[in-house]
Amino acid sequence: VLCVFQPPPAKYGGRHTVTLIPGDGIGPELCGHVQELFRFCCVPVDFEVVNVDSAVMGEDDITNAIMAIRRNGVALKGNMETNHNLPASYKSRNNLLWTTLDLYANVIHCQSLPGVRTRHSNVDIMIIRENTEGEYSSLEHENVPGVVECLKIITRNKSLRIADYAFKTAREKGRSRVTAVHKANIMKLGDGLFLECCKEVASGYPEIPFDSMIVDNTTMQLVSRPQQFDVMVMPNLYGNVVSNVCAGLVGGPGLVPGANYGTDYAVFETGTRNTGKSIAKCNKANPTAMLLASCLLLDHLKLHAYAEVIRRAILSTLSELHTADLGGHSSTSDVVQSIMDAVQREGPQTLNM
Ligand code: ADP
Ligand code: MG
Repeated sequence: VLCVFQPPPAKYGGRHTVTLIPGDGIGPELCGHVQELFRFCCVPVDFEVVNVDSAVMGEDDITNAIMAIRRNGVALKGNMETNHNLPASYKSRNNLLWTTLDLYANVIHCQSLPGVRTRHSNVDIMIIRENTEGEYSSLEHENVPGVVECLKIITRNKSLRIADYAFKTAREKGRSRVTAVHKANIMKLGDGLFLECCKEVASGYPEIPFDSMIVDNTTMQLVSRPQQFDVMVMPNLYGNVVSNVCAGLVGGPGLVPGANYGTDYAVFETGTRNTGKSIAKCNKANPTAMLLASCLLLDHLKLHAYAEVIRRAILSTLSELHTADLGGHSSTSDVVQSIMDAVQREGPQTLNM
């Protein structure tokens, strides 16, 4: 939706081709429901499915997936499992995607949802996470037995870039404030540089108030008074933690979609990147996060009317049916069926806009 990127133009007959990476755990079933719903709504999107076997050491699968995203410009994905028992030379497939395609901005919008009871209401936070460096640089080694160095890389260019992304987003979406999250009191050089870059960029957006907060205080403030936050920008690992806290605040991992943007490509997924292995193939996962991710994808392709119809149907169903994660008794397919019923009831008026 943001002007920084140009989405790929529609192909013949106004149709778009989108790479679909089902991933592990609940990924394949959730992606299947997106395909089902898109067919039902006659969305002009054709999926090119690319399977990535995360159990295989070689990188052929992920290379093919990356090539397909370069070709199509856009993808929807389930999460790919990264087993922590594998050797350090095995790089996270998800991480390889972000870094190879330079998808530098991970954007998670956590908003209180109608029909979902949570401790806090009126939460509306946009988390902008640097997605390609920081603690996720995959630079670890054991110097001598018992001594490990794990490098956190912070660069001026990438810090300026993500800060600018945050302020651009704030401006375009009419948000009122940007908060940088850091630990510059301890990591004086690394996080210090990140914070400096945020301040520098902030001076170019005088109409948007800027402040900063140390990450430990941030997490406490989030769970006690989350309404004080608006747009938040931060390095990679804090972004991971903070987005999980915020997803929890609005109802959990089954509800919040996520997007990864670079200048050339965009990849959509569930916000907290869970595989949900423990509930895979049980027809009990909450499909909301993945379905809302598919709406972000439609917005990116400028298929706004379709996104709007589907999003409204998802939200109206959320006020009626709940899966087990929300304390309900509905199955995944019950929810998807109810969403299709809602589309059938309400859809055409909006599509004629
Ligand atoms: P696991 O892979 O062990 O299931 P994850 O770290 O992937 O765990 O997910 C964390 C928790 O969130 C798990 O309890 C998982 O079942 C739950 N979860 C993740 N996604 C969903 C979803 N879409 N619907 C319901 N529960 C979910
Ligand atoms: Mg998992």
